[in-house]
Order: sequence, then C-alpha cells, then structure tokens
Amino acid sequence: MSSDDRLNELRGQVDVINMQLLDLLNQRARVVSEIGKIQAATGGGFYDPAREAQMLQALEMANNGPFSNDAIKSIYKEIFRASMALEENQAKAKLKVQRRSEVERTVITMPDGVTTLGSGDFKIIAGPCAIESFEQMDETAAALAQRGVKFLRGMAYKPRTSPYEFQGLGEEGLKIARNVADKYGQFIVSEIMDKSQLQMMYDYVDVFWVGARNMQNAYLLKALGQQNKPVILKHSFGATMEEFLYAAEYIVASGNPNVMLIERGIRTFEKWTRASLDIGAVAALKLETHLPIIIDISHSAGRRDIAIPMAKAAKAVGVEGMMVEVHPNPPVAMSDSKQQLYIDQFHALMDALGQ
Ligand code: PEP
Ligand code: MN
Repeated sequence: MSSDDRLNELRGQVDVINMQLLDLLNQRARVVSEIGKIQAATGGGFYDPAREAQMLQALEMANNGPFSNDAIKSIYKEIFRASMALEENQAKAKLKVQRRSEVERTVITMPDGVTTLGSGDFKIIAGPCAIESFEQMDETAAALAQRGVKFLRGMAYKPRTSPYEFQGLGEEGLKIARNVADKYGQFIVSEIMDKSQLQMMYDYVDVFWVGARNMQNAYLLKALGQQNKPVILKHSFGATMEEFLYAAEYIVASGNPNVMLIERGIRTFEKWTRASLDIGAVAALKLETHLPIIIDISHSAGRRDIAIPMAKAAKAVGVEGMMVEVHPNPPVAMSDSKQQLYIDQFHALMDALGQ
C-alpha cells in the first residue's frame, strides 16, 4: 500500500470516529438537557464544581493515553462548558420576557386608550429629576405639553448619597405632580423605592418606575407584578443585560405584563460621562426581549451638552423612546443639576429629533 493510500485509509477512520464522537456528544447533550430540566424545576444552579471535579478525576484515572491528562481535562472542560450553556439557554428560553419571534412585542396602552408605549413611535418621558415645587413642575409640564409629550417624570422620594441632603417632597410632591399632570392631560411617572409605598403612591402615579439601585429588589418587583399599573424598570449600573431581564421576569411572572425597560448606562472606568451607554448591548437586548426599551440620556451622560447626539443614537438604535431630565432652572435644582436640560435646550432637542 502506498503511503498515500495508507494516509487516506487512516483519514477515513478519523472521519468515522468523528461521526461517532459527534453522535456520543449529542447523546451526552440530550442527557445533560434532561438533568438541566430537573435542576431548573428544583431551583438548583447548573454549575456544580464538586460534580465537575469528580468527573475529571474519574477520567484522569481511566486515561491510558496517548492523550495526556492535561489534554483530556481541557477537552472535557470544553464539553462541560458547552453543556452548561445548553442548560442555561434552555432555562432562558422559558422566560416570559424572552422574545420568541421577530414580530412579538409588548405594547403598553394607557388608561386613555390611545397613548401607548412600545408601539413603534419614539416616546418621550421628560421632567425634572425631583419634584421641588408646583411652579417648577408647572413650567416644565407646560413646555412638554407644547411638544405633545404625555409622560411627566419626577421623583417624590430621592434618597441621596448623604442622608443630610434633600430627600424629596414625599406625598406632598406626588400631589403637586398629579395636579400638574391633570392640568396638561399628562401621565405621571415616578419612582417607587419600597413595597410599603405602593398603596399610597397608587392613587397619584400612572406609571411606577424602579430605579437602578433597586433593580434587583425582588420583593419590590414581585409587589409591582401584583398590581395593574405599568412599571418601568431601570438597568442597574452594575448588572448584566441578562440579570436585567431576569429582574423584569420577576414583575411579569408575578402577573403584570406591562413592563418597560430603561437603559441608563453602566459603571465603567470612563470619567467624561457619568455612566457608559453600551449601544451594542441595547441592540442585543432588543433581539432578546419583546418588552419595550427606552434610553435614559440624562443619567447615562450626566451632562446636558451631549443630549442631542445621545438622543439621536437612542433613536437610531431603534428603541421605543427616551427619558430626559428637564428643569426650568437647572443650576438651582436640588439634584442632578449638571444633567438637567434648560427648557430651551429641551425644545432644541425636540427640534433636532424632528419630534
Ligand atoms: C432618576 O431617574 O432620577 C434616577 C435616580 O435614575 P437611576 O435610578 O437610573 O440612577
Ligand atoms: Mn436624576
């Protein structure tokens, strides 16, 4: 037999073994997938380091070469990694917030029956960081009304880094916001900090929002899932997109399908902006979920001089809208004074967006 023939014969054997291995690998994957289902049902994690170490040890003991133990271990580690990814994907595919088809989308319809979030047009949620006075809310809301903005934001509870700074007007602030919103036919969007505030706030607000610092407060999320007003959930600056979706799942799984996500940037080493807005991750998030997504251009930037390009980027990536802070006199604002837009800047922004 020529060496060419011999080479071809050996390659033929390798091809057959490849197919057998492929078959065995997929056979193994099917078993792992069954294990994953049991683990998901019992709430256990998929990664079990003790079990992995035990399997590697058994393989090392049984290994007669010619592969070294190190080579065998690295091959099997790759198999373990792929198996775990399979289990995780299976579990994730069961999330209610997960998009199952390209056309699936959640549209939130407000009680007026005509105002929607998530129906394809770019919606604006604007207003000051915190509710400070009737005059401040009224002047802002009037400017929003001129541009047809229906969602007025404002925080009544504003815990600050220091407990000695302005903490928000509380229920008094919500009364102001309600009066102003009713005057201009707007909806109030306000942050809820704790489950205990739910009953009282329910009478004043139209949309609850959960702040970045509270994204993983599971008890708050569950409570919001058990009431019927829409909820907007902000992305924690220290959480992955996957964790963000799991947090949204708490609300939807508790019974409230009207959830919207707000990307507000994450913490990175960058200092020129307050947070880093990862536009690529937002594009990926859109593929993963049917929930409407909006971008908060104020907290991600932390500055007002780049509001227009930030808003254009938000619009270009195809999200359902943006949140922006607007204040009649930002330098004297009680919080976030560097990022709130002056009213004329808000108009310039709307012009730039063609809104
Ligand atoms: C806010 O919207 O004013 C706010 C405090 O945002 P975040 O929770 O995203 O920091
Ligand atoms: Mn703010």
